[in-house]
Amino acid sequence: MEIVHISAECYPVAKAGGLGDVVGALPKYQCKAGHIAKVVMPMYRTKFLYNNEWVVDFKGSAHLGDWLFEYTIIREKTNSLGFDLYLVDINGLLDREKIYGYDDDTERFTAFQIAVVSWMASWEHRPDIVHCHDHQSGLVPFMMKHCFNYRHLSRVSTVFTIHNGQYQGWMDWSQSKLIPAWDDWKTGLLEWAGRINPMASAIKCADRVTTVSQSYMEELFYDANGLESLFDYERGKCVGILNGIDNEIWNPATDTYLDNHFSVKTVTKGKKANKALLCEKYGLDKEKPLFVFIGRLVGEKAAEILPGSIARAIHESGGAASFLILGSGQTDIEWALQQMTGQYPGLYNAYIGYNEALSHLIYAGADFLLMPSRVEPCGLNQMYAMRYGTVPVVRSTGGLKDTVVDMGDPDGYGIRFNHATESDLVYSISRGVSVYQDSAHMEKMRKFMMQVDNSWEATVQKYISVYQGIL
Ligand code: ADP
Repeated sequence: MEIVHISAECYPVAKAGGLGDVVGALPKYQCKAGHIAKVVMPMYRTKFLYNNEWVVDFKGSAHLGDWLFEYTIIREKTNSLGFDLYLVDINGLLDREKIYGYDDDTERFTAFQIAVVSWMASWEHRPDIVHCHDHQSGLVPFMMKHCFNYRHLSRVSTVFTIHNGQYQGWMDWSQSKLIPAWDDWKTGLLEWAGRINPMASAIKCADRVTTVSQSYMEELFYDANGLESLFDYERGKCVGILNGIDNEIWNPATDTYLDNHFSVKTVTKGKKANKALLCEKYGLDKEKPLFVFIGRLVGEKAAEILPGSIARAIHESGGAASFLILGSGQTDIEWALQQMTGQYPGLYNAYIGYNEALSHLIYAGADFLLMPSRVEPCGLNQMYAMRYGTVPVVRSTGGLKDTVVDMGDPDGYGIRFNHATESDLVYSISRGVSVYQDSAHMEKMRKFMMQVDNSWEATVQKYISVYQGIL
């Protein structure tokens, strides 16, 4: 099968969150399973671009409204990621340092999608599956099926994966001129609640819609940022498939970011060495159980309850635990977390920013990972934590519910709670502090969770079955 993945992110080329991890791994494991999977993404100015060799695969031009723009498709020369990687260069529009966050993101990602579809329409053959990821490629199924220019692609099967349903890429009707001409009577396929909604359009037009966990799929029927009734209507084509993790990258025995490697057998010693390094770097007491948070500092992750919860947990436990935060996001939350750094010497520190290397050391050195998320479509952090023997402390939602078993249940290895509130989080931290005193129990949980199979090898076949169902 030939599968073309279209995405705004792909690790290690460009990553802002879980989408990048998934698009960096799923195609690799599809290729390993004997298929031809390719990734097409925008050409940002990233380290990966400058550190690798590229060949020009195609040059073309297309219209974004009145503007005739030129684009170039370049391909990474050595197949170093385990799949063919194509970047779309649109001068002045995509070749920037950040992935998102510009005023003209709508124009940027619309032009990207037009370039990709125009390029695929020029191929002599047709791919079997075009697999789009999140709203930045949400207009592709509509364009392939209903825009006059791309009729050649109208019979190609499309799959749309929702990694995060909160962001839908809304556009005003004044921006409809950016989209290549279509049959007027199909306009409803672009629309939701009076606006152009690329995510809704993809749900309507793709042959199958997947989300990254079964529980998140079920949540979307009653909580989908306005799209609930659409999900309900399209229920028949929706499938929940839990993400895997790339066990080659996320392996504490070989992780290139770590100096102290460890395996299931050596977990206690290995984590101790990583914790010592981490605590020394961030001025924390290494004798105390270390609770960490890694992620975007936004409401979805309930990050705003962290400062209050940590302060309460420190006071109520008499300083029995230490805390380290790695994240960036809303400035008010960043500020609140930052200004606490001087207040609890030896017990609290924060790194505000994005730091891939530090995240690996934290997964390896921490005792507990906090994830009080309000919305968590799948969540990868808890799976990385498990692989590194770090106990996940999670709210029971979405993928967290599907991957973490509470330590009070048979074969449990995590801590679960129901509400994204300070009280629930502080109580869960106190459960962590108690279990930390029982080193035999901790070791047993660590060894057990490190062996839970969350690999892509186990998951990839589920996507293949979805593809087979529509071919
Ligand atoms: P989301 O995609 O909603 O942000 P996920 O749990 O699916 O959340 O994926 C988050 C990914 O991003 C993980 O690989 C996590 O380690 C990484 N990550 C998030 N914030 C940071 C940060 N500040 N520094 C390094 N890695 C981060």
